Amino acid sequence: MHKVVLIPGDGIGPSIAEIAVRIIEAAGVKIEWQRHEAGLTAIDKYKDPLPAHVLEAMRETHVALKGPLTTPVGSGFRSVNVALRQEFDLYANLRPAKTFAGVPSRYQDIDLIVVRENTEEFYAGIEHFIDPSHSAAETIGVVTRAGSERIVRFAYEYARKHNRKKVTTVHKANILKYTGGLFLEVARKVATEYPEIQSNDKIVDNMAMQMVLNPHQFDVIVTTNLFGDILSDLASGLVGGLGLAPGGNIGYNAAIFEAVHGSAPDIAGKNIANPAGILLAGVMMLRHLGEFQAAERIELALASVLREGKKVTRDLNPASGVGTVEMGEEILKKMAEA
Ligand code: NAD
Repeated sequence: MHKVVLIPGDGIGPSIAEIAVRIIEAAGVKIEWQRHEAGLTAIDKYKDPLPAHVLEAMRETHVALKGPLTTPVGSGFRSVNVALRQEFDLYANLRPAKTFAGVPSRYQDIDLIVVRENTEEFYAGIEHFIDPSHSAAETIGVVTRAGSERIVRFAYEYARKHNRKKVTTVHKANILKYTGGLFLEVARKVATEYPEIQSNDKIVDNMAMQMVLNPHQFDVIVTTNLFGDILSDLASGLVGGLGLAPGGNIGYNAAIFEAVHGSAPDIAGKNIANPAGILLAGVMMLRHLGEFQAAERIELALASVLREGKKVTRDLNPASGVGTVEMGEEILKKMAEA
């Protein structure tokens, strides 16, 4: 029996999380779910977007499946997602981007992994206005040698474990000579320890263009926090958008899996949100827990529903008329038939 914290989240979160839990349970994995609220839902109930009991539960289970949490733009409380990553030192953000047959996308046969540094640089929260009249603001990006080394090593270890052929380091060391330069120096050094894996590096602006023009040349991509944020969404765009994008936030002692999209307040409560992102995050979580067969079963059933393209939410097929619950039930049906 695994113990997992379940944070259903805000907006569309509870509806897609519920379907994901039903499907994971139907795959035969025994999980004791510890349900907790965070984000806006927790503010309403506890006046705190990240109540202490969520952190305590995470310290006990070390694993969470999380729905999207709403973060106010520009002011208000800081992102709970970022706070969780920092609290548990979830230094690696793993963002796979894979094409599924039947899902409209620009390319076929894409299977990319973006490994984003998750705790440093511009997300360290060192920012302020420089004077009382707010005439200018500063955000300070800190890149450390140790932080760079562990994320680059994570990417190479991932590549080795999953038989990936190539790791591309992305940076802006021509302009950010210190932070970018340090990251690149460390990456080139770590690369020498993995001679069986091809290594190269690219400046981020060129990388963005190359990913759009010829994404098949890439395999595993490793980069700093802000570039990773942007390039991982770009990678999702190559395979049909955020609706199918999962992410894992992984540290030495804890991991949180989530859909990449947000809480989508515009469609909350309408039974039209696509549950595939959080379900694929659940699949990543099952592999993290060593439940490989269940993960495979769910992924195959989802792939089959996507391939047929009929019982899918309207973001995937505007003519389908099918909602979150019906798409989830179709996945359950495919699993039962397999
Ligand atoms: P969003 O991802 O919530 O929505 C962007 C667009 O995509 C919207 O039109 C939405 O309807 C659509 N969409 C998103 N998920 C969908 C799904 N599963 N099925 C179908 N359509 C879907 O981005 P946003 O509107 O910029 O952000 C809303 C809130 O979510 C913000 O408060 C933001 O901070 C938060 N957010 C949270 C996370 C997270 O918890 N990891 C990630 C991104 C954004």
